[in-house]
Amino acid sequence: MQTHILGFPSIGQRRELKQALESYWKGELAAESLLETGAELKKRHWQIQRDAGLDYVTTGDFSLYDRMLDVTCMLGAVPPRFEACRGDAPLDGYFSLARGDVRRNIPALEMTKWFDTNYHYLVPEIDGGTWTSADHPVVADTSLAGEYGFRPKPALIGPFTWLALGKAGRDVRKWDRLEEIAAAYVKILSRLAPLCDYIQLEEPVLCTELLPDEATARFQAIYADMNAACGGRIMLATYFGPVRHLDLAAGSGCAALHVDLVQGRKQLEAVLGVLPPRMALSLGLVAGRNIWKTEYARALPAVERAVAALGSDRVLLGSSCSLLHCPVDVAGETALPGHIRNRMAFAVQKCSELSDLRGIFERKEQTLLDENTAVLQAALAHPDSRVEAVRKRAASVTPDMLSRRRPCSVRRDAQKWLNLPRLPTTTIGSFPQTSAIRSIRLVRRKGGIPEGEYIAAIRKEIADCIAKQEELGLDILVHGEAERNDMVEYFGQQLGGFCFTQNGWVQSYGSRCVKPPVIYGDVYRKHPMTLDWILYAQSLTEKPVKGMLTGPVTILCWSFVRDDLERSEVCRQIALAVRDEVLDLEKAGVRIIQIDEAALREGMPLTAAEAENYLRWAVDAFRLSASGVEDSTQIHTHMCYSEFNAILPWIARMDADVISIESSRSGMELLDAFAGFDYPGEVGPGVYDIHSPRIPSVEEMVELLRRALRHIPGDRLWVNPDCGLKTRRWEEAYPALENMVAAALRVREEL
Ligand code: GLN
Ligand code: ZN
Repeated sequence: MQTHILGFPSIGQRRELKQALESYWKGELAAESLLETGAELKKRHWQIQRDAGLDYVTTGDFSLYDRMLDVTCMLGAVPPRFEACRGDAPLDGYFSLARGDVRRNIPALEMTKWFDTNYHYLVPEIDGGTWTSADHPVVADTSLAGEYGFRPKPALIGPFTWLALGKAGRDVRKWDRLEEIAAAYVKILSRLAPLCDYIQLEEPVLCTELLPDEATARFQAIYADMNAACGGRIMLATYFGPVRHLDLAAGSGCAALHVDLVQGRKQLEAVLGVLPPRMALSLGLVAGRNIWKTEYARALPAVERAVAALGSDRVLLGSSCSLLHCPVDVAGETALPGHIRNRMAFAVQKCSELSDLRGIFERKEQTLLDENTAVLQAALAHPDSRVEAVRKRAASVTPDMLSRRRPCSVRRDAQKWLNLPRLPTTTIGSFPQTSAIRSIRLVRRKGGIPEGEYIAAIRKEIADCIAKQEELGLDILVHGEAERNDMVEYFGQQLGGFCFTQNGWVQSYGSRCVKPPVIYGDVYRKHPMTLDWILYAQSLTEKPVKGMLTGPVTILCWSFVRDDLERSEVCRQIALAVRDEVLDLEKAGVRIIQIDEAALREGMPLTAAEAENYLRWAVDAFRLSASGVEDSTQIHTHMCYSEFNAILPWIARMDADVISIESSRSGMELLDAFAGFDYPGEVGPGVYDIHSPRIPSVEEMVELLRRALRHIPGDRLWVNPDCGLKTRRWEEAYPALENMVAAALRVREEL
């Protein structure tokens, strides 16, 4: 029985790749040095895999920016707007695709979420132009690994996944390009074949509903060509759910099939039932997307079952998906309490777990199993894991706690006392996080400032922010979120059941990493979390100040979540904590409260049935957090994306009084979704893109508002930017908002 992982994180335990990339982009590091850092990281990660006792080391998992982009470059699928970059050094051309070329004013490829993860890939643009296929770094890396004496297993994202995730240009039928793309894969595969036993082609798209008939119909033929090119070495890797197209996977003629037995826990029997006689099966048993140890006793039955059915030489043990989605090494966590650290396994530890599982199974290493069971049991027996009062309260949530007293349309009357003008103007919450603000927080974190001084400093920022908003003439003000480093971390730091790692960084995109909070125990609120700041802000102005909270689903989705309790249950606990905060705000006189659910959509599982189940409990969690208030209190929510055609009925079920959404980048196109749907609430489609430093003109925002009015009645339309302003400078935010208010005033007169 062989062992392998699907991929190791590229970024490095000390985020070496991030540092090298950012220095290179600033012009402070030579290309050779950047490549050298890359080479060192690759070698180190291969060594880790071998030291752990894995049979293969994975190559082609390392990318300087993004693996989807690496395939895009291999195919030569470079959009014509990058023509001017053709003469640049290869590395610079590559980064121009990823980040845009500022000097020549060429926008980057679009970036979006990799399935339901927090990783972002660069979206291929499928045009009708001529592509000239080129090399892929996996070939050189695989040779190099071989030279070092490792046994490499090269890995590439497969052609169906690449194309399914690509965005077709106007009048382009993207699947028409499939054969041409496959031909480029054939070239690379034939070069890889002499260097390895297996080539991992990743087709997570097989776990989704994204493949049209014209793609599935050609799957077998394309895989036959590719297998022929490499002597039948392909390991077809699926992950992020049960294989939806099991017939295609089984009929692919590949040497092996990898399945995710973490997110597709129940699929083993179905897979065994169709696996053809010579195909090997890789069992993805060690979770690639969490930070927790594998419970060996729970994983072993699958190994036993697969070996009984196939024989041990046809079974491999693997990670469920690439370890890209988890941090590098628990050894870096010296500050966590033992009972939490003892439960944790990051990428380095997950490699060893695979060897352990094999040892337990093949060599009956009982002590490994007993130790694992004992450690996990002890950790879970810790009192934080189960707080009786929290369990009791979560179990006694009644249906009426999920509903406001009366429907949205009736509540609108109850909220008339707020006396808002038509087309009220507001913002999404955060204002520019100046270096002064960042440094106050930093000094406080390092313990270098008495609490009283810290509070005074943040209050000064709040006062400044309120004054500016009054000057701008906004209708609903916010306190500006100066005290928040991050919209989830801020709440996690104050809630029971959360902890924070020192080095638990995970790549989000390119050089950007996030360090998600960890939910290890039952979640509860210890004390009010936002009240003082909001009340202080409100004390400075006659205008209403919105209370600003992060919603339960977003807190859940942007954290590492314990694996010993259903996600829906964890979410319900968070919802109750947020509900307490909402009620405290209301009691203190804050009568407009925004509960952001920026992550609601991205947390959606890949298949319709699972997505529906998720949406049901996720929307219920939001409602639980929001529904305790009087009808006369106005609940807002915010979502940072616009593709919710399909889920608009669910958004309506959230039953917020006002929702703000991203939409400026699509020119209000998203509102088409509202056209065919009787959305009951008020809507603030973002009228300008905060991701860009550009200052939008009054005219263009007037135009967008007029367009919005075609779909949303004038008494239900709000005017706001499309997200928080924390990444902008005041020099950008102030004039942009000035124009936004002017645009609102002008369109108000037209009503
Ligand atoms: N209130 C948050 C802010 O303005 C919302 C951020 C988000 O939607 N990502 O920063
Ligand atoms: Zn947003």
